[in-house]
Amino acid sequence: MIVVGGGAAGLTAGIYSSRARLSTLILNEGAIGGQMVLTDEIANYPGVEKTNGYLLASTMKKQAKEFGCKIKSNLKILSYNLEGEIKQVLLEDGREFHARSVILSPGGRPRPLQIPGEEQFKGSGISYCATCDGEFFTGKEVIVVGGGNSALEEAVALTTYADKVTIVHQFDHFQAFQHAIDQVKLNPKIEFVMDSELRTFSGNGVLQEVSLEHLPSGKTTSRNIDGVFIFAGYIPNTADLKGIIKLNARDEILVDQDMKTSLSGVFAAGDCIQKKYRQVTTAVADGTIASLSAAEFLRS
Ligand SMILES: Cc1cc2nc3c(=O)[nH]c(=O)nc-3n(C[C@H](O)[C@H](O)[C@H](O)COP(=O)(O)OP(=O)(O)OC[C@H]3O[C@@H](n4cnc5c(N)ncnc54)[C@H](O)[C@@H]3O)c2cc1C
Repeated sequence: MIVVGGGAAGLTAGIYSSRARLSTLILNEGAIGGQMVLTDEIANYPGVEKTNGYLLASTMKKQAKEFGCKIKSNLKILSYNLEGEIKQVLLEDGREFHARSVILSPGGRPRPLQIPGEEQFKGSGISYCATCDGEFFTGKEVIVVGGGNSALEEAVALTTYADKVTIVHQFDHFQAFQHAIDQVKLNPKIEFVMDSELRTFSGNGVLQEVSLEHLPSGKTTSRNIDGVFIFAGYIPNTADLKGIIKLNARDEILVDQDMKTSLSGVFAAGDCIQKKYRQVTTAVADGTIASLSAAEFLRS
């Protein structure tokens, strides 16, 4: 079994498959843990009291390895041949791996706003990860863009460092769990600019200013700012799977309830599949189902 991606979904598939004594290899681009390691605090994973994302990912990795799962990280997949009985995955460094079944769990990545200045100030005031960069803004003023769970939770996390956090959201209401909404409303360091979108980033070497449009009135204003954290949705990491398996119009992998993709013996799990809710719990559930389905496929 080859599992592509070592986030919550891939690590869970690795735990279940290796525990079922299937020879299992996780191939992961980048560091193990995926988006879990981008979040400062995970407080909604059942059975685990408020924890750090890195810690949760490390425990999952340890569990998978203890059951005999092999994990290879910091690699790049060059191509796939997923048709036929023996599936083939070729890495950029020339290594080649074969398996009778593949679980795809490459997750997703933050969606950029794609507005002027974003590329220029990425890493110089613009960030997509509060855990990674929050500390750089100690005593400063930052904007958080977005109105979903990630945006609101990370805005609260940022108040540990920043003196003031302004949430800028394009609608007049948030699309987050009520608990997350309550937390931002109770926090005295957090302010809100609703019905508004960022239009430009500017500065001299580092980000210094943003322009904001109030959507109902069309009025644009400028604001001095030290940092902007963007949580505006995600893009599935499925570009290299186009034309290989069926994706929907948003490039999410199409699966049935057993996590089967359009190709026999190929399953998918986690944030990369077509679904509504993206959480660690849902990724873990998908990884479980994909692994059990793959085991059944191999038995038959
Ligand atoms: C800031 C933030 C805060 C969050 N907070 C919470 C929270 O509090 N609670 C909660 O339940 N959820 C939270 N989430 C959501 C949760 O982290 C994700 O839903 C979940 O981790 C997705 O897991 P995954 O395994 O599907 O994908 P990912 O975590 O994206 O993992 C995919 C892995 O695959 C690798 N990969 C990508 N492409 C390839 C490729 N071609 N080949 C090999 N490997 C590849 C990636 O490097 C990554 O390691 C948060 C997300 C973010 C961004």
